[in-house]
Amino acid sequence: MNQHVLNFSNVTACGTNTETSLPCMFSAVGRRDYDEKRIRSSESLLHVLSRAGVSVRWKDNQSGCKGVCDGLGETIVDPKADAALCEDGRCFDEVLLRNVGALTQGSTGDIVVVLHMLGNHGPAYYKRYPTAFRRFQPTCDTGELRRCDRQSIVNAYDNAVLYTDHVLSQAVAYLKTQQERFDTAMIYVSDHGESLGEKGLFLHGLPQAIAPNEQTRVPMVWWLSESFKASRGLDTACLNGKTALALSHDNLFHSVLGLMAITTQVYDARLDIASACTHSPGSTPTR
Ligand SMILES: [Zn+2]
Repeated sequence: MNQHVLNFSNVTACGTNTETSLPCMFSAVGRRDYDEKRIRSSESLLHVLSRAGVSVRWKDNQSGCKGVCDGLGETIVDPKADAALCEDGRCFDEVLLRNVGALTQGSTGDIVVVLHMLGNHGPAYYKRYPTAFRRFQPTCDTGELRRCDRQSIVNAYDNAVLYTDHVLSQAVAYLKTQQERFDTAMIYVSDHGESLGEKGLFLHGLPQAIAPNEQTRVPMVWWLSESFKASRGLDTACLNGKTALALSHDNLFHSVLGLMAITTQVYDARLDIASACTHSPGSTPTR
């Protein structure tokens, strides 16, 4: 299904592995003043949201929230609970949408739900999508990448991307069913990139300073419902004009606060992608 999304095409990750990127992308500190200790000891975006009265939920199909959701409650997907979507202790990401309504049940105010996807974490790319998404062939059907030729590794990876695309489309479809109750929106962003044989490199996790673009560039997609845009006074054409800008994980913290209309000292409008696209009555566009 074709959803009308904002596809940010030039986004840089804070780190090249989950352990580094995840806390960093949810922090106010970010990559520009990178300091792991400071990041881990300061409030995450989710803590700030929670303190401002937003209900926060974290549902995880990966390796946990790395401190980002401490004290806020975390739902870990149980691979035994869904035989159709789970195998060998791992689940396809659609599992995150199973019974997702339970996460917002009883909530009437603002709510932010984080779905932590397994995504395209390798090396077993072929295990990241159901058979129906095996469009690019032949595929590398082993986690031992050296036993495969490069194209079959890329094919498996691309099938997993295709599946992620499908999961995001399903998420948007779900949000569309909730518009009676909520002004809905979705933000998708990866934690890091992946090397697939470019420059002889595979996987991810090289030190930031020497990591190639393939490991540091990430996709970011926003879907904002019409009612969400209207409630925030967001201008679609203006937002479309931001999609090619050089952006980074540093923008996430401030953009989410901006979209959720949270006023706090830690908010920096210069890093809020949408701040200049807000034309709500009485507010002055930042620039
Ligand atoms: Zn990761």
